Amino acid sequence: MFGDHIIYIHLGSNLGKKRKNLQQAIAHIEETVGTICSLSSIYKTSPWGNTKQPFFLNIAVKLWTKLPPFELLYEIHVIEEKMGRVRKERWGERIIDIDILFYNNKVIDYQRLTIPHPLLERRRFVLDPLLEIASDLIHPKSGLSIEKISATCTDTSLVVLLNDK
Ligand code: AMP
Repeated sequence: MFGDHIIYIHLGSNLGKKRKNLQQAIAHIEETVGTICSLSSIYKTSPWGNTKQPFFLNIAVKLWTKLPPFELLYEIHVIEEKMGRVRKERWGERIIDIDILFYNNKVIDYQRLTIPHPLLERRRFVLDPLLEIASDLIHPKSGLSIEKISATCTDTSLVVLLNDK
């Protein structure tokens, strides 16, 4: 399912079999969202925002998609629900969390959908996996590359590259 649009998404899991959850989410993404161009390694990361919860596994994915932005968001929510995610507290534990980071070089400013993702510059757990697959990507609002944004990010929370994909 090739498409005209290049998107970057970020996946996280900190409940149950985390690695399996990421793999299952990626399989669903390939079925309903688009064709994968690149996958980062998996990163083990400390929880951000609400720190009293288990560690996360995170991964960044670059894809081709045919879906327009709000349909993309809908399909992502379908996957999260299919996998049994229950939305409780903000930044709480989750089987799977899927965020849209970039959609071509589009800027979308709704509460329901903000692209580029508004917190990506502040989150080491998002920037490190993204840096691996998109260091030259330019943020359409600031005009800065991911490499530059990552170099100036002050988030010191722990992010560890796991070498096995
Ligand atoms: P979360 O709990 O992190 O899954 O985020 C909850 C809400 O954020 C969802 O209901 C989305 O509608 C909204 N949202 C806004 N911008 C984005 C984005 N870029 N990617 C994913 N969700 C987003």
